[in-house]
Amino acid sequence: MHRSEITVYLDAIRRNSRFVIKSVDGSELWAVVKADAYGHGAEAVSRAALEAGARALCVATIDEAEPIRRAFPKARVIVLGPITPHDVGRARDARIECVAHDQGSLAILGGEVDFHIWLNTGMNHWGFDALPSRLPPNAVGIMSHLSRSYASPSQTCRQTEKFLDLASAHPSLLRHIANSAAALRYPATRLDAVRCGAALLGLSPFPDTWAAEGLAPAVRWTSYLAHTRIISPGESVGYGGLISQENFSASERTLIGIVPVGYGDGFDRRLCGTSVLVGDSPAEVIGRISMDAFAVKLDAPAMVGSPVLLLGEELPVERHGMRTGMFNIELCTGLSSDHRRTRRIYVD
Ligand SMILES: *Cc1c(COP(=O)(O)O)cnc(C)c1O
Repeated sequence: MHRSEITVYLDAIRRNSRFVIKSVDGSELWAVVKADAYGHGAEAVSRAALEAGARALCVATIDEAEPIRRAFPKARVIVLGPITPHDVGRARDARIECVAHDQGSLAILGGEVDFHIWLNTGMNHWGFDALPSRLPPNAVGIMSHLSRSYASPSQTCRQTEKFLDLASAHPSLLRHIANSAAALRYPATRLDAVRCGAALLGLSPFPDTWAAEGLAPAVRWTSYLAHTRIISPGESVGYGGLISQENFSASERTLIGIVPVGYGDGFDRRLCGTSVLVGDSPAEVIGRISMDAFAVKLDAPAMVGSPVLLLGEELPVERHGMRTGMFNIELCTGLSSDHRRTRRIYVD
């Protein structure tokens, strides 16, 4: 029994990837594996996605891109985030494509590295509001990012129309705008490629559904019951005592269990009030969550050493979100990849 064990099911990722490829009829799937593939492990997720037919791997930084390039010498690798003049040589040497977000990045990339032009269509983080009239020959693609594809058909439609309008001046460039939500729900956004992260991991991008049909979660997170104790009426659990927002005060003699995982492992402090499974029984998370431990209320006696399920098929990440306001991608991305704290297992 390990204090924090994360199992990633690569077969689920392959199935999800194939499902997306089938859904986007003809458009290429580009797998987004930034932030260690949302906490699932970038290299393993990349391999599964490529095996299923993904045609490119997208990350946020040059430091994320280099190990991906080393692991997959033939894959198309794209850095979506901004780069500095210092990164350009690294991108060129490793055959990594970049993105020009503004005139400054256009100037440092032009002539050096293959790149995609980012158009701003409403996200308002970065990107050109209008296309530069002349593009260097190493511009290979044109892209934008949707700000409300998980919730707003009208905004998605407006952004897509604006994008198509601006992109029409450069018909030879690859066009891509869709993320997971758009790829699954809005055929008009599919274009030459779709850039999907969440869907490949079975994380539904829609607030109203746990599992976008056809997608399966790919991660299981377990710990164990390290200790049990009885607390008396009026006693509290954890830091902050009764003053804390997340306080718990026993109204009667209460059996509690301690799970040796905390926010240092990705069990976010906002998860207070949600439930985990001790054996097969739901147990409420009580008191403030520490860095290395949290407490649960046990409705029936449980053996020390019992398995505790934190995430998995029987306990979808979205269920925690409903109780805490966290969203599924955020929770998974916070999972620790420090092997000194967490054991990771990849199941093929
Ligand atoms: C993260 C990201 C994506 C993937 O979004 P999902 O909703 O996880 O599919 C696509 N494009 C860009 C620019 C991103 O930053």
